[in-house]
Amino acid sequence: MNVTVFGTGYVGLVQAAVLAEAGNNVACIDIDEGKIARLRQGHIPIYEPGLEPMVKESVANGNLSFSTDAAIGVEHGELIFIAVGTPPDEDGSADLRHVLAVADTIATHMAEKKYIINKSTVPVGTADKVRATVEARLAQRGLGELAFDVISNPEFLKEGSAVADCMRPDRIIIGTAEKASEQKMRQLYAPFNRNHEKILVMDVKSAELTKYAANCMLATKISFMNEMANIADRVGADIEAVRRGIGSDPRVGYQFIYAGIGYGGSCFPKDVKALISSAEQLGLSAEILAAVESRNEQQKHYMAEKIIAHFDGDVQGKVFALWGLAFKPNTDDMREAPSRVLMERLWEKGARIRAFDPEAMEECQRIYGDRDDLELCGTKEAALKGADALIVATEWQQFKALNTKEIKGLLSAPVIFDGRNQYDPGEIAEKGFHYYCVGRPNIQ
Ligand code: NAD
Repeated sequence: MNVTVFGTGYVGLVQAAVLAEAGNNVACIDIDEGKIARLRQGHIPIYEPGLEPMVKESVANGNLSFSTDAAIGVEHGELIFIAVGTPPDEDGSADLRHVLAVADTIATHMAEKKYIINKSTVPVGTADKVRATVEARLAQRGLGELAFDVISNPEFLKEGSAVADCMRPDRIIIGTAEKASEQKMRQLYAPFNRNHEKILVMDVKSAELTKYAANCMLATKISFMNEMANIADRVGADIEAVRRGIGSDPRVGYQFIYAGIGYGGSCFPKDVKALISSAEQLGLSAEILAAVESRNEQQKHYMAEKIIAHFDGDVQGKVFALWGLAFKPNTDDMREAPSRVLMERLWEKGARIRAFDPEAMEECQRIYGDRDDLELCGTKEAALKGADALIVATEWQQFKALNTKEIKGLLSAPVIFDGRNQYDPGEIAEKGFHYYCVGRPNIQ
């Protein structure tokens, strides 16, 4: 099928690559000229496992192309995806500027029926706004009779496993009331719906709300466990034992109940805020979600508090090795990453950071530029040299097995602050470390 994707970010680019690999002819359109130029030269602007070879292969066989020319994009695709950003506005609500700009662009150029598919995460009622935007522009062009449908097809991929998630989705949500739209979407997704039925067709509003409900539920699980960890801290219980204890109940399950230093990324923080804002606009107060957000904001300071307390309130001139900058493993994304709150808090107190991340170093450089109190190190070992303590902020696989002898030799003092509960407190203490983690008894 001929498909156009507006927006070549984490969602748009991955979706385009996966659809192209399945044999569709996909045109990607973005307003970021630099990004499109780099993509055309074969440079993939984000890190996602498996994405680069997939893009290169489809570009080579002619199934995938990149352009800033919206007119060409609209003409090309019978199915047109909107996969642009929906950042939080000042009041926390989703900013629909980019989504509605694409809707207007589509209506400015379309000359035949189009299926407009919204993949961006948007509040309930956005499809109606997209529809109204398209209708207004078509009427202005004297094409008020031109047919189109607006379909909600929210995306559930996880950064870090985006390609795999798109190729083997848990579910494919299609929000539409039109049979023709449902058929087109079923045809498009048939290659991903083979071994069992994953397609769920529903009304547009339910599809829009499903995406928020999913992310808010996951954020709630994290904040709940962090709250339990803080209680465990005070009473001297071990949150890891509690996790296993509750996860063994299938009604709770083991997934997504790890305590840590808070969730980050471009989705959970903004989607929780946006649903709170939507509820407020409806005269409701989303009390659970407000608590989820507030716990997360506090949790991002958890390890900084422990670090500052360990040094009796004075970290001026101290040097910290920081392992992990990305908000989670297997991505270079640092949007709302707990590592940022941690670094900024320590910088405020006069400390210096020597950081290493397998993928997010360029992103860190882009965000913070050159500063005297930040050194980006080429390896995790280099970050340790002469540092007063090691801090772990992201659970990358390569941080999991610790060479304690080497670490002890490189650090100026054997202290580890582990924001992701990666290590066994007893084993680390046996090796002579002061070890701090989240919701587990401190062994010093
Ligand atoms: P992103 O910021 O990585 O990419 C958005 C892209 O859209 C940018 O390249 C930008 O230049 C482009 N763009 C903006 N306006 C445009 C326009 N008028 N025409 C063409 N391109 C335009 O965003 P993302 O992370 O891919 O997220 C996109 C949407 O998908 C958001 O609503 C997000 O909430 C949702 N989502 C994201 C994830 C994720 O893990 N990142 C997962 C599921 C859903």
